[in-house]
Amino acid sequence: MYKLLRARIPDAKKVELLEFRFSDFPLSEFELIQCGIRCFFELGVVEKFKVPAETLTRWMYTVRKGYRDITYHNWRHGFNVGQTMFTLLLTGKLKKYYSDLEAFAMVAAGFCHDIDHRGTNNLYQTKSASPLAKLHSSSVMERHHLQYSKTLMENENLNIFQNLQKRQFETVQHLFEVCIIATDLALYFKKRTMFQKIVDQCGEIKDEKEVINFVSNNPTRKEIVMAMMMTACDLSAITKPWEVQSKVALMVAAEFWEQGDLERTVLDQQPIPMMDRNHADELPKMQCGFIDFVCSFVYKEFARFHVEITPMFDGLNINRGEWRALADVHEAKIKAIEDEKKKLEGGGGDAAVWCLWDRKRDHGKYR
Ligand SMILES: [Zn+2]
Repeated sequence: MYKLLRARIPDAKKVELLEFRFSDFPLSEFELIQCGIRCFFELGVVEKFKVPAETLTRWMYTVRKGYRDITYHNWRHGFNVGQTMFTLLLTGKLKKYYSDLEAFAMVAAGFCHDIDHRGTNNLYQTKSASPLAKLHSSSVMERHHLQYSKTLMENENLNIFQNLQKRQFETVQHLFEVCIIATDLALYFKKRTMFQKIVDQCGEIKDEKEVINFVSNNPTRKEIVMAMMMTACDLSAITKPWEVQSKVALMVAAEFWEQGDLERTVLDQQPIPMMDRNHADELPKMQCGFIDFVCSFVYKEFARFHVEITPMFDGLNINRGEWRALADVHEAKIKAIEDEKKKLEGGGGDAAVWCLWDRKRDHGKYR
């Protein structure tokens, strides 16, 4: 920890901390801790809310340790969500709707949002009757990530919000709940038309100050935008440069396949194709479906809301093209195999006769 305090925190520009295309690949997990600390300094909240440097360092380090060493939902994913929230606020100019305290809570919640993830989803918790499913009745994993994050705040050595007024501290706790629970994708589908309506209404207001008031003076609108921001952060890998997206998609898939294996062995159930490693070659097609039915809406609406967020939507569309091309190659291969099969069945009279003859011979042998 002291090494961390002494070390020079990486320069935000050098590691592209404020870019939507930021990639954690060139950085070590230790450097990501430093980058996390850097986000709070850049936001100006360390001085403003009197966060002791040691506490901030200990908290960041403990958050990193709270993530398990699993295939996808590990500290790297947690960091990426916090970094994207930071970038949406500053580069994406969404900060204007939020106070410094709110921005502080939103970025911190981003880092914490999947803490202690086990690599299995909510449905698996329910089906396997896991202890977590007995504890929480809905958004099982998200409620656990929230609980874990709040427990860290209860420890004064780790509480980065220790110098806040009671009311401010309650606000932070509430925002942690809004942000972390919002990462349950089931809730995203329920909220997305409300977000679209806000974007439409803001588009009709000409004066910028009026737009800011329209959002920031209305707690419901503010929280809907906040929840959508969390979804945009959580799915942001889909918008990254292709070299990054293609690798991350494989990590997500690998974690799904591991859950599929558990469903087969522990639950004695057949996994859905997305979680079945026997359907691995359909990944490009499934990515296209995921983009079209889940991701497109979020990034299209955010690009419409704030033109500064367009790089995310552009990145998504480039990746859609790459996945489509791979899916086409796969589909062409399948079609070629099927055509060959048909040719053998239809035109291959001799082959059919041989098969029959073979079967007869086998019967004679083993009877
Ligand atoms: Zn996540």
